[in-house]
Amino acid sequence: VIEIRNLHKSYGALEVLKGVDITAPAGHVVSLIGSSGSGKSTLLRCANLLEDSQQGEILFRGEPVRWKGTGHGRRPADAKQVLRIRTNLSMVFQQFNLWAHMTILQNVMEAPLTVLGRPRDEVEKAARGYLDKVGIVDKCDAWPAQLSGGQQQRAAIARALCMEPQALLFDEPTSALDPELEQEVVRVIKDLANEGRTMLIVTHDMKLAADVSDHVVFLHQGLIEEQGPPDAVFGAPRSERLRGFLSATH
Ligand code: ATP
Ligand code: MG
Repeated sequence: VIEIRNLHKSYGALEVLKGVDITAPAGHVVSLIGSSGSGKSTLLRCANLLEDSQQGEILFRGEPVRWKGTGHGRRPADAKQVLRIRTNLSMVFQQFNLWAHMTILQNVMEAPLTVLGRPRDEVEKAARGYLDKVGIVDKCDAWPAQLSGGQQQRAAIARALCMEPQALLFDEPTSALDPELEQEVVRVIKDLANEGRTMLIVTHDMKLAADVSDHVVFLHQGLIEEQGPPDAVFGAPRSERLRGFLSATH
């Protein structure tokens, strides 16, 4: 679904991504691991076209993003293409970013109504279905502030699902949560993986990465240092840096 080739990204003089290739084929779960500052969030934001990149290609379902300009002046050329890609790659953030002035149901319904222009009764039915799926349909009429962190994050996942995206992008979806709340969210992510959803997950939770991934990518200072199936990456890491990273996270 998503393919990134030789991606380069700098913030001014700071080169954050130095030529990264990553593919999330349909039905696969790819996890991105690596130390703080290695460029994981930046890569996810570039994939979603929330950030510009200076060099390299991004393909969505085989369709390359069209660019105008080069280097630091490079921007996507086609606003409609950007919107189509962004609405098909729903992102779930570490901080759930629910709209505080809307109920949980309104939060889940908002983007399908306004961005996709789908009919209200159909969207409401779908929204209730996704809230049921993540186990908080009883919270439809509550305000975000009345929910626990784990419930808020599950609402954010329902909101992403209600866009019926081709893929889900998660940026540290459990790292703002206490361990017991983290498990509620991990369970939802595992269910989504078992359903065969395409997902790109940035996580510090090595157990989650080992459990749900088809492929694990270890990023180090803006380059892929090692990648492979979870058994190999976690069971028989070849790189010294990856071994150091894994022993530091246990
Ligand atoms: P973490 O595990 O802490 O979330 P990360 O791997 O997600 O780290 P990024 O957030 O991608 O790392 O950041 C990579 C580098 O880019 C860091 O050195 C960071 O300081 C820098 N960076 C990130 N966003 C910006 C920005 N908007 N402007 C300037 N520099 C930035
Ligand atoms: Mg990050």
